Amino acid sequence: MKIVLATQNRGKLRELSVLLDDPSLELVTLDDVGLGGLEVEETGDTFEANARLKAEAVAQRAGLPALADDSGLEVDALGGRPGVLSKRYAGHDATDADNNARLLAELAQTALDARTARFRCVMALAVPQGGAARTVLVADGSCEGHIAPAARGDGGFGYDPLFVPSGWGQRTLGEASPAEKNELSHRAEAVRALRPQLRAWRIQMDADG
Ligand code: IMP
Repeated sequence: MKIVLATQNRGKLRELSVLLDDPSLELVTLDDVGLGGLEVEETGDTFEANARLKAEAVAQRAGLPALADDSGLEVDALGGRPGVLSKRYAGHDATDADNNARLLAELAQTALDARTARFRCVMALAVPQGGAARTVLVADGSCEGHIAPAARGDGGFGYDPLFVPSGWGQRTLGEASPAEKNELSHRAEAVRALRPQLRAWRIQMDADG
């Protein structure tokens, strides 16, 4: 089965391809189906709403099943921000460095033990249906930790250099290898939750002919 991964983020694309490694699934990118320029506006106010929006937009245009994820960082001391605005936290064209600088500035007065946070990821699989599309599977995952006092490491992307997973001492995800991150990341957990659903759904599809 061919599935279009609805992402243009190269970092996430690499991670997802490793995590979803399944020889019976042919994963293709937006570029592979001629949708390289597609921008879906993330207007939802939850990760799930945005994942559904993206998956359905791609499934409809590609005429193929599409898998989208929406993810971000929730910081307890900031009431869950930046949340769905993680990518644009420091402004519309913000870089990862801009976003990290804003996060550190906002938490400047917050003690280390009050800097609890989590990465969250929701994945949605949508299928084309009669000129439109419908979401058939949703799965989510999270990774608990806290925000470090300063950036450490230059691996990963986004907020990785500021995020210390629970039990890691002072080590951030920016200092982890891709394999280490894939073991505990919010995306890994969402994919693990998605896999059995995907299997059951495909068996049902085959049974329905
Ligand atoms: P997206 O909407 O799923 O593309 O993710 C939004 C933003 O959340 C990204 O641009 C990053 O700033 C942040 N983010 C999501 N996943 C990660 C991660 O695994 N590490 C670091 N930052 C992440």
